[in-house]
Amino acid sequence: MPNSLGRILVTGGAGFMGSHLCERLVDAGHDVICLDNFFTSQKRNIQHLLTRPNFELIRHDVTHPVWLEVDEIYNLACPAAPGHYQYNPIKTMKTSVMGAINVLGMGKRCRARVLQASTSEVYGDPEVHPQPESYRGNVNCIGPRACYDEGKRAAETLFFDYHRANRVNIRVARIFNTYGPRMHPFDGRVVSNFIRQALRNEDITLFGEGAQTRSFCYVDDLVDGLIRLMAAPDDCTGPINLGNPREFTVRRLAELTIELTGSKSKLVHRPLPADDPSQRQPDITLATQRLGWKPTVELREGLARTIEYFRSIRFEDFRPPTPNY
Ligand code: NAD
Ligand code: UDP
Repeated sequence: MPNSLGRILVTGGAGFMGSHLCERLVDAGHDVICLDNFFTSQKRNIQHLLTRPNFELIRHDVTHPVWLEVDEIYNLACPAAPGHYQYNPIKTMKTSVMGAINVLGMGKRCRARVLQASTSEVYGDPEVHPQPESYRGNVNCIGPRACYDEGKRAAETLFFDYHRANRVNIRVARIFNTYGPRMHPFDGRVVSNFIRQALRNEDITLFGEGAQTRSFCYVDDLVDGLIRLMAAPDDCTGPINLGNPREFTVRRLAELTIELTGSKSKLVHRPLPADDPSQRQPDITLATQRLGWKPTVELREGLARTIEYFRSIRFEDFRPPTPNY
Protein backbone atom coordinates (compact mmCIF):
# COMPACT_ATOMS: atom_id res chain seq x y z
CA MET A 1 0.00 0.00 0.00
CA PRO A 2 2.39 2.65 -1.23
CA ASN A 3 0.19 5.72 -1.27
CA SER A 4 -2.37 5.13 1.49
CA LEU A 5 -1.93 4.91 5.22
CA GLY A 6 -1.40 1.43 6.57
CA ARG A 7 -0.28 -0.53 9.60
CA ILE A 8 3.43 -1.12 9.44
CA LEU A 9 5.63 -3.41 11.51
CA VAL A 10 9.29 -2.45 11.93
CA THR A 11 11.34 -5.23 13.54
CA GLY A 12 14.50 -3.88 15.12
CA GLY A 13 12.61 -0.57 15.21
CA ALA A 14 14.38 0.71 18.33
CA GLY A 15 17.82 0.38 16.74
CA PHE A 16 19.89 3.04 15.04
CA MET A 17 18.34 2.78 11.58
CA GLY A 18 14.97 1.40 12.76
CA SER A 19 14.30 4.38 15.02
CA HIS A 20 14.78 6.83 12.12
CA LEU A 21 12.52 4.69 9.94
CA CYS A 22 9.79 4.54 12.63
CA GLU A 23 10.01 8.32 13.04
CA ARG A 24 9.54 8.90 9.30
CA LEU A 25 6.59 6.48 9.09
CA VAL A 26 4.89 7.92 12.20
CA ASP A 27 5.31 11.46 10.84
CA ALA A 28 3.72 10.33 7.57
CA GLY A 29 0.64 9.22 9.55
CA HIS A 30 1.01 5.43 9.40
CA ASP A 31 0.17 3.16 12.33
CA VAL A 32 3.61 1.92 13.32
CA ILE A 33 4.39 -1.12 15.46
CA CYS A 34 8.00 -1.19 16.62
CA LEU A 35 9.14 -4.66 17.68
CA ASP A 36 12.50 -5.05 19.40
CA ASN A 37 14.22 -7.12 22.07
CA PHE A 38 16.65 -4.28 22.89
CA PHE A 39 19.69 -6.51 22.39
CA THR A 40 21.76 -3.68 20.93
CA SER A 41 19.53 -0.65 21.46
CA GLN A 42 18.06 1.52 24.15
CA LYS A 43 14.52 2.79 24.62
CA ARG A 44 15.89 6.33 24.41
CA ASN A 45 16.03 5.95 20.60
CA ILE A 46 12.23 5.80 20.36
CA GLN A 47 11.28 7.55 23.62
CA HIS A 48 10.08 10.63 21.74
CA LEU A 49 7.63 8.44 19.77
CA LEU A 50 6.01 6.76 22.78
CA THR A 51 3.47 9.56 23.23
CA ARG A 52 2.39 9.51 19.59
CA PRO A 53 -1.04 7.85 19.16
CA ASN A 54 0.01 6.04 15.96
CA PHE A 55 3.08 4.38 17.54
CA GLU A 56 3.19 1.11 19.53
CA LEU A 57 6.14 -0.70 21.08
CA ILE A 58 6.39 -4.47 21.56
CA ARG A 59 9.31 -6.12 23.38
CA HIS A 60 9.73 -9.38 21.49
CA ASP A 61 12.42 -11.55 19.97
CA VAL A 62 12.01 -12.22 16.22
CA THR A 63 13.30 -15.76 16.59
CA HIS A 64 9.86 -16.52 18.11
CA PRO A 65 6.64 -16.25 16.09
CA VAL A 66 4.36 -13.29 16.68
CA TRP A 67 0.75 -12.85 15.54
CA LEU A 68 -0.05 -9.38 14.21
CA GLU A 69 -2.20 -7.96 11.41
CA VAL A 70 -0.17 -5.62 9.23
CA ASP A 71 0.08 -4.28 5.68
CA GLU A 72 3.86 -3.87 5.50
CA ILE A 73 6.85 -5.29 7.36
CA TYR A 74 10.36 -3.84 7.45
CA ASN A 75 12.61 -6.58 8.86
CA LEU A 76 15.58 -4.82 10.46
CA ALA A 77 16.01 -6.94 13.59
CA CYS A 78 19.61 -8.17 13.68
CA PRO A 79 22.77 -6.97 15.40
CA ALA A 80 24.75 -5.11 12.72
CA ALA A 81 28.11 -4.04 14.17
CA PRO A 82 30.88 -6.69 14.10
CA GLY A 83 31.35 -6.46 17.89
CA HIS A 84 27.62 -6.95 18.43
CA TYR A 85 27.02 -9.77 15.97
CA GLN A 86 30.11 -11.70 17.08
CA TYR A 87 29.03 -11.43 20.76
CA ASN A 88 26.72 -14.43 20.34
CA PRO A 89 27.27 -15.67 16.77
CA ILE A 90 24.80 -18.55 17.00
CA LYS A 91 22.08 -16.18 18.11
CA THR A 92 22.98 -13.86 15.22
CA MET A 93 22.43 -16.66 12.70
CA LYS A 94 19.15 -17.63 14.41
CA THR A 95 17.95 -14.03 14.32
CA SER A 96 18.57 -13.74 10.58
CA VAL A 97 17.15 -17.14 9.62
CA MET A 98 14.31 -17.68 12.10
CA GLY A 99 13.47 -13.97 12.05
CA ALA A 100 13.11 -14.15 8.25
CA ILE A 101 10.89 -17.26 8.48
CA ASN A 102 8.66 -15.59 11.07
CA VAL A 103 8.18 -12.30 9.19
CA LEU A 104 7.70 -14.13 5.88
CA GLY A 105 5.06 -16.37 7.49
CA MET A 106 3.30 -13.27 8.72
CA GLY A 107 3.62 -11.69 5.28
CA LYS A 108 2.09 -14.78 3.70
CA ARG A 109 -0.84 -14.87 6.15
CA CYS A 110 -1.56 -11.11 6.00
CA ARG A 111 -0.62 -10.66 2.34
CA ALA A 112 1.74 -7.94 3.55
CA ARG A 113 4.76 -6.57 1.74
CA VAL A 114 7.93 -7.68 3.48
CA LEU A 115 11.20 -5.79 3.14
CA GLN A 116 14.46 -7.37 4.25
CA ALA A 117 17.35 -5.23 5.48
CA SER A 118 20.11 -7.23 3.81
CA THR A 119 23.67 -6.04 3.57
CA SER A 120 26.72 -5.41 1.43
CA GLU A 121 28.30 -8.16 3.57
CA VAL A 122 26.65 -10.69 1.25
CA TYR A 123 29.48 -9.69 -1.15
CA GLY A 124 32.09 -10.60 1.52
CA ASP A 125 35.59 -9.35 0.64
CA PRO A 126 34.65 -8.45 -2.94
CA GLU A 127 36.79 -9.25 -5.97
CA VAL A 128 34.56 -7.09 -8.18
CA HIS A 129 34.59 -3.34 -7.69
CA PRO A 130 32.19 -1.53 -7.38
CA GLN A 131 29.70 -4.22 -6.45
CA PRO A 132 26.61 -4.67 -8.66
CA GLU A 133 23.69 -6.80 -7.48
CA SER A 134 24.67 -9.51 -10.00
CA TYR A 135 27.99 -10.13 -8.18
CA ARG A 136 27.69 -13.33 -6.14
CA GLY A 137 30.25 -12.44 -3.53
CA ASN A 138 33.33 -13.79 -1.80
CA VAL A 139 32.32 -14.82 1.72
CA ASN A 140 34.39 -17.05 4.04
CA CYS A 141 31.66 -19.33 5.38
CA ILE A 142 33.66 -20.41 8.44
CA GLY A 143 35.21 -17.08 9.48
CA PRO A 144 34.23 -14.82 12.38
CA ARG A 145 32.02 -12.63 10.15
CA ALA A 146 30.15 -15.63 8.70
CA CYS A 147 27.39 -15.71 11.35
CA TYR A 148 26.26 -12.35 10.00
CA ASP A 149 27.17 -12.66 6.30
CA GLU A 150 25.83 -16.19 5.85
CA GLY A 151 22.80 -15.48 8.05
CA LYS A 152 21.89 -12.56 5.78
CA ARG A 153 22.56 -14.67 2.66
CA ALA A 154 20.27 -17.44 3.98
CA ALA A 155 17.62 -14.82 4.75
CA GLU A 156 17.77 -13.60 1.13
CA THR A 157 17.31 -17.22 -0.01
CA LEU A 158 14.24 -17.55 2.22
CA PHE A 159 12.80 -14.29 0.88
CA PHE A 160 13.08 -15.44 -2.73
CA ASP A 161 11.76 -18.95 -1.94
CA TYR A 162 8.70 -17.54 -0.13
CA HIS A 163 8.21 -15.23 -3.12
CA ARG A 164 8.43 -18.06 -5.69
CA ALA A 165 6.65 -20.74 -3.65
CA ASN A 166 4.06 -18.68 -1.78
CA ARG A 167 3.83 -15.47 -3.80
CA VAL A 168 4.86 -13.32 -0.84
CA ASN A 169 5.39 -9.71 -1.92
CA ILE A 170 9.06 -9.15 -1.08
CA ARG A 171 11.72 -6.39 -1.26
CA VAL A 172 15.38 -7.04 -0.53
CA ALA A 173 17.66 -4.06 0.11
CA ARG A 174 21.42 -4.62 0.26
CA ILE A 175 22.47 -1.83 2.59
CA PHE A 176 26.04 -0.49 2.58
CA ASN A 177 27.72 1.19 5.59
CA THR A 178 25.25 3.66 7.08
CA TYR A 179 25.93 6.17 9.85
CA GLY A 180 24.26 9.00 11.74
CA PRO A 181 22.75 10.10 15.04
CA ARG A 182 21.63 7.28 17.42
CA MET A 183 24.49 4.96 16.50
CA HIS A 184 25.47 3.14 19.68
CA PRO A 185 28.65 4.89 20.91
CA PHE A 186 30.23 1.57 21.90
CA ASP A 187 29.15 -0.56 18.94
CA GLY A 188 32.77 -0.68 17.69
CA ARG A 189 31.85 0.52 14.21
CA VAL A 190 34.33 2.81 12.60
CA VAL A 191 32.26 6.02 12.62
CA SER A 192 31.16 5.68 16.26
CA ASN A 193 34.64 4.62 17.40
CA PHE A 194 36.39 7.52 15.67
CA ILE A 195 33.93 10.19 16.87
CA ARG A 196 33.97 8.90 20.47
CA GLN A 197 37.77 8.69 20.46
CA ALA A 198 38.12 12.16 18.91
CA LEU A 199 35.72 13.82 21.36
CA ARG A 200 37.73 12.38 24.27
CA ASN A 201 41.09 13.23 22.65
CA GLU A 202 41.95 9.52 22.79
CA ASP A 203 44.06 7.69 20.19
CA ILE A 204 42.16 6.94 17.00
CA THR A 205 42.47 3.24 16.20
CA LEU A 206 43.21 2.55 12.54
CA PHE A 207 42.89 -1.17 11.89
CA GLY A 208 45.75 -2.15 9.56
CA GLU A 209 47.10 0.75 7.52
CA GLY A 210 43.65 2.37 7.25
CA ALA A 211 43.90 1.91 3.47
CA GLN A 212 40.74 -0.22 3.31
CA THR A 213 37.76 1.62 1.88
CA ARG A 214 34.10 2.02 2.78
CA SER A 215 31.31 4.12 1.26
CA PHE A 216 29.35 5.87 3.99
CA CYS A 217 25.66 6.68 3.61
CA TYR A 218 23.87 9.13 5.90
CA VAL A 219 20.88 7.53 7.65
CA ASP A 220 18.24 9.96 6.26
CA ASP A 221 19.24 9.06 2.70
CA LEU A 222 19.13 5.35 3.48
CA VAL A 223 15.69 5.52 5.12
CA ASP A 224 14.43 7.40 2.07
CA GLY A 225 15.71 4.52 -0.11
CA LEU A 226 13.96 1.90 2.05
CA ILE A 227 10.63 3.75 1.89
CA ARG A 228 10.92 4.15 -1.89
CA LEU A 229 11.70 0.47 -2.29
CA MET A 230 8.65 -0.51 -0.22
CA ALA A 231 6.46 1.78 -2.36
CA ALA A 232 7.90 0.55 -5.69
CA PRO A 233 5.90 -1.65 -8.11
CA ASP A 234 5.55 -5.33 -7.18
CA ASP A 235 8.15 -6.54 -9.68
CA CYS A 236 10.77 -4.49 -7.82
CA THR A 237 11.77 -7.32 -5.49
CA GLY A 238 15.49 -6.50 -5.58
CA PRO A 239 18.01 -7.38 -4.40
CA ILE A 240 18.86 -3.74 -4.79
CA ASN A 241 21.93 -1.92 -3.48
CA LEU A 242 21.34 1.09 -1.23
CA GLY A 243 24.38 3.08 -0.22
CA ASN A 244 26.48 6.12 -1.00
CA PRO A 245 28.82 5.40 -3.92
CA ARG A 246 31.48 7.89 -2.70
CA GLU A 247 34.31 5.77 -1.45
CA PHE A 248 36.74 6.85 1.30
CA THR A 249 39.69 5.19 2.97
CA VAL A 250 39.32 4.59 6.69
CA ARG A 251 42.37 6.84 7.19
CA ARG A 252 40.59 9.71 5.40
CA LEU A 253 37.55 9.21 7.65
CA ALA A 254 39.84 9.48 10.70
CA GLU A 255 41.44 12.69 9.39
CA LEU A 256 38.05 14.25 8.64
CA THR A 257 36.75 13.32 12.10
CA ILE A 258 39.76 14.98 13.73
CA GLU A 259 39.26 18.08 11.61
CA LEU A 260 35.52 18.38 12.34
CA THR A 261 35.86 17.79 16.08
CA GLY A 262 39.00 19.94 16.47
CA SER A 263 40.47 16.98 18.37
CA LYS A 264 44.05 16.49 19.57
CA SER A 265 43.82 12.74 18.96
CA LYS A 266 46.67 10.89 17.24
CA LEU A 267 46.28 8.04 14.75
CA VAL A 268 47.51 4.65 16.01
CA HIS A 269 47.57 1.30 14.23
CA ARG A 270 45.89 -1.89 15.46
CA PRO A 271 45.86 -5.32 13.78
CA LEU A 272 43.41 -5.75 10.92
CA PRO A 273 40.54 -8.09 11.98
CA ALA A 274 40.16 -11.41 10.11
CA ASP A 275 38.27 -11.28 6.80
CA ASP A 276 37.99 -7.47 6.93
CA PRO A 277 36.89 -6.45 3.40
CA SER A 278 39.60 -4.32 1.74
CA GLN A 279 37.23 -2.28 -0.41
CA ARG A 280 33.53 -1.63 -0.63
CA GLN A 281 31.55 0.60 -2.95
CA PRO A 282 27.96 0.13 -4.15
CA ASP A 283 26.94 0.25 -7.77
CA ILE A 284 23.59 2.05 -7.36
CA THR A 285 22.57 2.12 -11.04
CA LEU A 286 19.56 -0.11 -10.30
CA ALA A 287 18.34 2.02 -7.35
CA THR A 288 18.68 5.16 -9.45
CA GLN A 289 16.78 3.65 -12.39
CA ARG A 290 14.06 1.80 -10.47
CA LEU A 291 13.56 4.04 -7.43
CA GLY A 292 14.80 7.41 -8.71
CA TRP A 293 17.02 7.34 -5.60
CA LYS A 294 20.48 8.60 -4.87
CA PRO A 295 22.06 9.88 -1.66
CA THR A 296 22.22 13.64 -1.15
CA VAL A 297 24.16 14.12 2.10
CA GLU A 298 27.94 14.51 1.76
CA LEU A 299 30.16 12.75 4.30
CA ARG A 300 31.40 16.06 5.74
CA GLU A 301 27.87 17.26 6.43
CA GLY A 302 26.56 13.92 7.74
CA LEU A 303 29.61 13.48 9.96
CA ALA A 304 29.11 16.98 11.42
CA ARG A 305 25.48 16.09 12.31
CA THR A 306 26.60 12.80 13.86
CA ILE A 307 29.30 14.56 15.88
CA GLU A 308 26.67 17.00 17.17
CA TYR A 309 24.59 14.02 18.37
CA PHE A 310 27.59 12.39 20.06
CA ARG A 311 28.32 15.68 21.83
CA SER A 312 24.72 15.72 23.15
CA ILE A 313 24.79 12.28 24.84
CA ARG A 314 26.52 10.98 27.98
CA PHE A 315 28.60 7.97 27.00
CA GLU A 316 28.18 6.45 30.48
CA ASP A 317 24.40 6.12 29.85
CA PHE A 318 25.04 3.43 27.22
CA ARG A 319 25.59 -0.22 27.96
CA PRO A 320 27.08 -3.11 25.99
CA PRO A 321 24.74 -5.70 24.36
CA THR A 322 22.21 -7.26 26.72
CA PRO A 323 23.70 -10.50 28.14
CA ASN A 324 22.11 -13.95 27.67
CA TYR A 325 20.77 -13.46 24.19
P1 NAD B 1 21.22 -1.80 15.40
O1 NAD B 1 21.99 -2.82 16.15
O2 NAD B 1 21.22 -0.41 15.91
O3 NAD B 1 19.71 -2.25 15.24
C1 NAD B 1 19.28 -3.58 15.25
C2 NAD B 1 18.05 -3.68 16.15
O4 NAD B 1 17.57 -5.03 16.13
C3 NAD B 1 18.35 -3.34 17.61
O5 NAD B 1 17.37 -2.48 18.12
C4 NAD B 1 18.32 -4.70 18.30
O6 NAD B 1 17.97 -4.61 19.66
C5 NAD B 1 17.30 -5.43 17.46
N1 NAD B 1 17.42 -6.89 17.53
C6 NAD B 1 18.55 -7.65 17.41
N2 NAD B 1 18.25 -8.96 17.52
C7 NAD B 1 16.89 -9.03 17.70
C8 NAD B 1 15.99 -10.10 17.89
N3 NAD B 1 16.41 -11.39 17.92
N4 NAD B 1 14.68 -9.82 18.05
C9 NAD B 1 14.23 -8.53 18.04
N5 NAD B 1 15.06 -7.47 17.88
C10 NAD B 1 16.37 -7.72 17.71
O7 NAD B 1 21.74 -1.86 13.90
P2 NAD B 1 21.37 -0.98 12.61
O8 NAD B 1 22.62 -0.42 12.08
O9 NAD B 1 20.24 -0.08 12.91
O10 NAD B 1 20.91 -2.11 11.59
C11 NAD B 1 19.54 -2.36 11.29
C12 NAD B 1 19.45 -3.42 10.20
O11 NAD B 1 20.09 -2.95 9.02
C13 NAD B 1 20.13 -4.75 10.56
O12 NAD B 1 19.35 -5.81 10.06
C14 NAD B 1 21.45 -4.68 9.81
O13 NAD B 1 21.93 -5.96 9.49
C15 NAD B 1 21.06 -3.89 8.58
N6 NAD B 1 22.23 -3.20 7.99
C16 NAD B 1 22.79 -2.12 8.64
C17 NAD B 1 23.90 -1.50 8.08
C18 NAD B 1 24.56 -0.30 8.72
O14 NAD B 1 25.59 0.15 8.21
N7 NAD B 1 24.02 0.30 9.77
C19 NAD B 1 24.45 -2.00 6.88
C20 NAD B 1 23.87 -3.11 6.29
C21 NAD B 1 22.74 -3.69 6.86
N1 UDP C 1 37.92 0.13 11.66
C1 UDP C 1 39.05 0.82 12.08
N2 UDP C 1 39.09 1.26 13.37
C2 UDP C 1 38.07 1.08 14.25
C3 UDP C 1 36.90 0.39 13.81
C4 UDP C 1 36.88 -0.09 12.50
O1 UDP C 1 40.01 1.02 11.32
O2 UDP C 1 38.18 1.53 15.40
C5 UDP C 1 37.86 -0.34 10.26
C6 UDP C 1 37.47 -1.81 10.10
O3 UDP C 1 38.62 -2.62 10.17
C7 UDP C 1 36.83 -1.80 8.73
C8 UDP C 1 36.20 -0.42 8.62
O4 UDP C 1 36.82 0.38 9.61
O5 UDP C 1 37.82 -1.93 7.73
C9 UDP C 1 34.70 -0.43 8.84
O6 UDP C 1 34.43 -1.12 10.02
P1 UDP C 1 32.97 -1.26 10.63
O7 UDP C 1 33.10 -2.17 11.82
O8 UDP C 1 32.39 0.07 10.86
O9 UDP C 1 32.09 -1.93 9.50
P2 UDP C 1 32.29 -3.13 8.46
O10 UDP C 1 33.67 -3.72 8.56
O11 UDP C 1 31.23 -4.10 8.82
O12 UDP C 1 32.07 -2.47 7.15
